[in-house]
Amino acid sequence: MIVRRRWTAAATTVILFSAVLSHPASGAAAPAAPAAPISLSATETAVVRVQLRDQAQLDRLVATGADLANRPRTRDGRIIADLVLSGTQLGELTAQGATAVQVVQRAGDGNRHYTDSVRAAQARTAAGLRAPAAGQRSTASATAVDTLQVQQAYWWTTTGQTFLQAQVATTATDDPDVEITVSWRTADGATGSFPLYRFEDSGEYQYHYALPQPVPSRPVQLSATSSLGGVSRAITPTLWPNASPPPLPDGYQKDFIDAYLTPVDIQARIKRLARQYRDLVDVIDLPNKTQGYRRNAAGYLGDTAVAALVVESVRFGDQNMNGVQVRTVDPGRANRPLTVGYRDRVLTVSLATDTAGKTVSTTDEVAAAINARQPDRFRATVEDGSAGLPMPVAGPTRLDDGLQGTEVPARPWTVQALRLGVHRDGSRVGVLAYSQEHAREWATPLVTLEFAERMLANARTDPATRELLEQVDIFVIPVVNPDGANYSFNDYNFQRKNLVNHCEGSARDPKYRTSWGVDVNRNYTVGSYFDGYVGASANCLSGNYAGTAELSEAESGNVIALAQDHPNIKFAMNVHSYGGYFMWPPGAYRADGRVTLPRPSIDESTLFLNSARRIVGAIAQERGTVTWPSQTGPVADVLYSAAGNSADQLYYELGIFAWDFEVGNDLWNPATNQWEGVGFQPPFDEAHGESQEYAHGLVEMVRVARDYAAAEAAAG
Ligand SMILES: [Zn+2]
Repeated sequence: MIVRRRWTAAATTVILFSAVLSHPASGAAAPAAPAAPISLSATETAVVRVQLRDQAQLDRLVATGADLANRPRTRDGRIIADLVLSGTQLGELTAQGATAVQVVQRAGDGNRHYTDSVRAAQARTAAGLRAPAAGQRSTASATAVDTLQVQQAYWWTTTGQTFLQAQVATTATDDPDVEITVSWRTADGATGSFPLYRFEDSGEYQYHYALPQPVPSRPVQLSATSSLGGVSRAITPTLWPNASPPPLPDGYQKDFIDAYLTPVDIQARIKRLARQYRDLVDVIDLPNKTQGYRRNAAGYLGDTAVAALVVESVRFGDQNMNGVQVRTVDPGRANRPLTVGYRDRVLTVSLATDTAGKTVSTTDEVAAAINARQPDRFRATVEDGSAGLPMPVAGPTRLDDGLQGTEVPARPWTVQALRLGVHRDGSRVGVLAYSQEHAREWATPLVTLEFAERMLANARTDPATRELLEQVDIFVIPVVNPDGANYSFNDYNFQRKNLVNHCEGSARDPKYRTSWGVDVNRNYTVGSYFDGYVGASANCLSGNYAGTAELSEAESGNVIALAQDHPNIKFAMNVHSYGGYFMWPPGAYRADGRVTLPRPSIDESTLFLNSARRIVGAIAQERGTVTWPSQTGPVADVLYSAAGNSADQLYYELGIFAWDFEVGNDLWNPATNQWEGVGFQPPFDEAHGESQEYAHGLVEMVRVARDYAAAEAAAG
């Protein structure tokens, strides 16, 4: 029996029509066009942007280990979540009141975009070409029941469109029906208004806000009113981020990424950089080898529709266990005992017989016999629904690890870091950029590698870059989770976790193989699931599975080991995708009362925010992408608790200013007046654009580190 056949079901197509979400009133807004119908076959997996019915529906999804592609957010008063799900799951959700808004990415898209990118790169190489560039105070009126405070009002212009975003808090925090409306006026006299929506997190009122709204030109005045009579003072919106790095000098070299890169490609790139820039680079082999792109060989013995066992090898498939056969036989004689024998790569279970010669062994007895007699080679589990049933004569079944990748070495993997700088001796302030903790986030190593190569290539020609490499010691881990990444490229696009399977019992059934693994960015020690924080799971099949213990995984241990071994590291950036966020600690809170990890001091908060504005400004300089003010801030405030994430351990335990990028900002679609998600594996042109703009952000982080070190030195 071929393992894969089991997942093939009759495909029925679920057709869902996305809601035509009317856009809040705005002077510039065109009428919203109806979006295309969203269809997904029952067994197809995709990333789908879904408008949930209510907070309870989101809580239920999180509790059941749903695979959230990025942080849920509120849009037009509704909770929007990007979920990795099948057509069947989407059908269930919509039956419970959710609405599909956008198919962000289908399973096959990633591989097509990868292949396209490699082909295009080869064609360009053949043609000798490079890749294409692609707080104000408020006053309340005397009769008002509530007081309004405009917490944020920012504007910016990107690709010819001006946007306005506001965040306003009412003192009537417990009244869920308070409506707040923002009115604006531009320099040339145009006016308009839009509603804000109440945002609660973990049951606590935070503020009212809306997604960035299009306005015809620079807004010069903004005020808010509430349905309880509260009126804010009129204020002037602030330009966001209002910080830009110096323009790039003539001849600045960039654009070193011309295709998606697999872990094997990244290994080759690291080797090439070390050879090419010998005087500026060390390659560090991180201490924990990962499991490798490997899996136990497994198969079903019996008929899964009637009675069956899952039999798997104790060793990995590549350790001479792929192709091993398993069978049950009828001894053909009466009164025989149940026996288990292994010979010539065939495991044979001879079933027990009664006085009439009829086989009488049950599924449980056969599983127990295999586990007792061949504990070093095989592990047998009774399929759900097969317990206690007569074990049929079955097989031989060939065990197989099911891995499709042929170019990936099946052995433990050495994760590598690049160390860049003129003085790589700990005497300079250190910066760490690391990416692809989550396997499916293919654009993220493109960001860190583009950054590394910009620093190296320009060191010889650009005095400013040379000076940065004189003053700063840079560490880059392009792929933290290579095994999961190999699986994402070769087997299952939406793989998020690593390849280590900690499941036991029936959860080891190969039908769950795309749900195994540990969420590397929930496996760290501070504010962890094990400490009672929110945003990770003990369920080995959950997208946020925290592992068996803090730092149980090689991948997370490597990040921390690198930081511990180099105490000069003072700044870090954890690069994820997608959604366009820029965040810092605290990154987690306890469910009960939403108690976060300790807040940074005022001084440190100021450093986080001022540095963020500089880095957001640098990102915007590349192709106009502006990370929203509402998505710039502490992780726990910009909508999410991520128990046991790496930035929190780096900050709270090692004193590192630790940020997180979510690259891949939503794109504004003027035809529909909607912000649209880009997904984990967008068409390569988009991934290329992300690599360029966020690499520029990382260069700015190096400048931030240099300035910090200079200020510290001056302070003595
Ligand atoms: Zn991620």
